[in-house]
Amino acid sequence: MTRADTPREGTAEDTPAAEEWRVQGVPASELARAFGTPLFVYDANALEAVYNGLRERLDPAIDILYSLKANPNVSVCSYLASLGAGAEVSSAVELRTALWAGVPPERIVYLGPGKTRRELEECVRAGVGAVVCESLEELRELDRIAAGSGDREVPVLLRVNPEFHTKGSGLAMGGKPRQFGIDAGALRTAGGPIAGLRRARVQGFHVYMGTRFLDAEDIVHNTEQILGTAAELAEVLGIELKAVDFGGGFGVAYFDNETDPDPDTLASGINRAARGFLRDHPGCRLINELGRYLTATCGVYMVRALYVKESMGERFVVADGGTNHHMAAVGIGSFVKRNFPMRMLSPRRPGETGTYTVTGPLCTPNDVLGRRVVLPPVAPGDLLGVERSGAYGPSASPGLFLSHGFPGEVLVHDGTPHLVRLPDRGDDLLARQRLVDFTAGEERTAGPAGRASGG
Ligand SMILES: *Cc1c(COP(=O)(O)O)cnc(C)c1O
Repeated sequence: MTRADTPREGTAEDTPAAEEWRVQGVPASELARAFGTPLFVYDANALEAVYNGLRERLDPAIDILYSLKANPNVSVCSYLASLGAGAEVSSAVELRTALWAGVPPERIVYLGPGKTRRELEECVRAGVGAVVCESLEELRELDRIAAGSGDREVPVLLRVNPEFHTKGSGLAMGGKPRQFGIDAGALRTAGGPIAGLRRARVQGFHVYMGTRFLDAEDIVHNTEQILGTAAELAEVLGIELKAVDFGGGFGVAYFDNETDPDPDTLASGINRAARGFLRDHPGCRLINELGRYLTATCGVYMVRALYVKESMGERFVVADGGTNHHMAAVGIGSFVKRNFPMRMLSPRRPGETGTYTVTGPLCTPNDVLGRRVVLPPVAPGDLLGVERSGAYGPSASPGLFLSHGFPGEVLVHDGTPHLVRLPDRGDDLLARQRLVDFTAGEERTAGPAGRASGG
């Protein structure tokens, strides 16, 4: 499929099918022995190839932010930051993650429709590069907080729910009622409230059109529309544009007959739109925020086959991890469930290629990583991998369903695997529960260690 079209040299996606899968020379079996399964494995070379591939093509006026939502691992974020990426965050913990990862506060954009007062205070305290306000009420609240905490001005982008919408994405936004942002129509009459702000400074606009855009032409078209909307609103409101965040949502190919967006078409189209815009708005900072595109192709979800069995003519591989860690592999959002790319990671056994449905440990028939996947012969103990799994994996999955908890995560850099997230242990999962002792004369509540707790 797609991988042949866009080879990323020197990354784990290149291991020949018959050999044991290796990432930067480290064999799958060694990773499994050292860190256990199920395991997410991230290849820093692949992250670098994707980030640099885009950075080198995009106009320097366009800043690339990493959307932590796609993969909130602090080391993934810090590696991207070391390559030059800023961060787009949507919760207090994501903000802390980005700061911990070493992203300078002024390169962080904070957005999200439901920011609490506490989160807005965090933004002001941290000195983030911009708070993306999603309502005029939020803008006023932020202004009050900023005015009460000193002289520093707080840069703001207003998130626009645009009037146009585009096809071409599994999850498109715009032109519909949404909880996100402010309708473009309502913004045109918001000049008064914006002019009356004390410390919040509206510097520009933010528009996010949706996720999984695969067609470069669609993305370019969106970008043109967004820049046009920003220019028009700035004019109406008399704002000197200092920044426009034109979102992201670039997809990667997961399924047969999908292809990755062509990076040359993508970048040259965006650059064309950007340069046209910058002629009228010189010095305006343009922001491209990306999650999936930056991290998806760097990751493999590695599971071990526990049982191979047959039911009514269909062959099943039951593995030690499933949709509890990788909900996206169920094909959420698509009408027909399609398979993520999957491969055997162990060395090929003699025998014929077969068709296997690969399932996980959950007690639900929906726990299917891949349906009727064509694989070399599979035996218990073999390692299997779901490829292109570096985005929307464990953090977007029901990790607590059946209490298996989160898997470990490993980032391989310069041939060295680093455990960047410890897998949850049973103790971790039980530690936050409290048992009420209903038999005691006076009811008491205790944690798993037996100590009484305040509740
Ligand atoms: C989810 C989200 C992103 C990241 O989306 P990707 O499709 O992973 O690039 C960026 N911006 C906003 C506002 C989002 O909600």
